[in-house]
Amino acid sequence: MNQRLHDALKEHFGFDSFKGNQEAIMSSLLDGNDVFVLMPTGGGKSLCYQLPALMMDGTAIIISPLIALMKNQVDAIRHFSEADHVAHFLNSSLNRSAIDQVKSDITAGRTKLLYVAPESLTKEENIEFLKTIPISFYAVDEAHCISEWGHDFRPEYRRIRPIINEINPRPMIALTATATPKVQHDIQKNLGMTNAKVFKSSFNRENLYYEVKPKTQNIDKEIIKYIKNNPGKSGIIYCLSRKKVEELAEMLVVNDIKALPYHAGMDGATRSSNQDAFLMEKVDVIVATIAFGMGIDKPDVRFVIHYDMPKSLEGYYQETGRAGRDGGEGQCITFYTAKDLQKMEKFMQGKPLAEQEIGRQLLIETQSYAEASSCRRRSLLFYFGEEYGHDNCQNCDNCINPKKKVEAKDDLCAV
Ligand code: ADP
Ligand code: MG
Repeated sequence: MNQRLHDALKEHFGFDSFKGNQEAIMSSLLDGNDVFVLMPTGGGKSLCYQLPALMMDGTAIIISPLIALMKNQVDAIRHFSEADHVAHFLNSSLNRSAIDQVKSDITAGRTKLLYVAPESLTKEENIEFLKTIPISFYAVDEAHCISEWGHDFRPEYRRIRPIINEINPRPMIALTATATPKVQHDIQKNLGMTNAKVFKSSFNRENLYYEVKPKTQNIDKEIIKYIKNNPGKSGIIYCLSRKKVEELAEMLVVNDIKALPYHAGMDGATRSSNQDAFLMEKVDVIVATIAFGMGIDKPDVRFVIHYDMPKSLEGYYQETGRAGRDGGEGQCITFYTAKDLQKMEKFMQGKPLAEQEIGRQLLIETQSYAEASSCRRRSLLFYFGEEYGHDNCQNCDNCINPKKKVEAKDDLCAV
């Protein structure tokens, strides 16, 4: 046990113990290693860089993709430490005088964590500034954004390594909840951390029940019935298109279900008020595109329904993973027809060839998961390069009801 770490954990965050392999991760980073962390959502990745940042000399640079995520984290750290200057962010939402304040706090050595978006990191002005300050280490959060095989590719993430080399190379910790071997390889290669110490937690979510149902013309009725059989429970329904989101939300409302839509085509105010209504349980159900979810931490989502099969198993895992964050029941129900995947493949045809190739491969993996008659949990974990040590998980459709084989018949499909 690392007494210094335990004392610091108690002092800065008030926690009595570490979760999973947090302690080993932090010790390794404090020892000056490059560290690569694969840990499911909710596992406690942020603490792996926040605590070392507070303990080390200099400022830690935290690269994070979304302004909203940065703001949440900075607020949380400030709350714990009761001092605003301890954590700052630099991004396009700040005006000139706010930027000057951030820089003067950093120069005075008062700031232990600086959150930056990759776009800000690539700005010449910021590069020049960062060259002048002592940096403890770099953290790359949501590191799967580097990889086209991940679910949220951001080209600017690929510029991180060269820019860091220009500023001042220091130890680096990269963190992600995306654990496919391909993504892992891409991240390590692109960040130049092939010698990093790798810490991978299990991605099994025991409390989640997985089911794939054939998508028929009765899908809306089935969904309404399901929700009515689960009164008062919170759930997310994911649809592929904005139009379907609107239609389904309306259909649920007509059927006396408290539901609201959410997609990126809605104006910002409506979007955030719908999100708040869901988080504060004014409605039970949010019908959404995948625009809904990243960074949203509602612990008691009891079901996630996929109206359409996601484009990748990675997306499926992330989206279903929003159920049962509190460890309680979480039902993940997906409606599947091979026709939907064919439609997605068609949509890809205008894209560059390399992108099409990746997209097609991801669809094939998704299809084989959906059509499999073996344990869903085992297939899903296998996809993440993890061996599931049991034959029967007792918590998926195929294990509970082994004979049922999901096969969408074309003539049953609702297109
Ligand atoms: P991730 O980034 O892996 O999805 P977070 O860093 O957001 O997860 O952490 C999830 C939750 O777990 C947060 O509410 C955090 O405060 C809490 N947490 C993290 N580490 C600990 C710990 N050692 N003890 C208690 N709670 C923790
Ligand atoms: Mg996180």
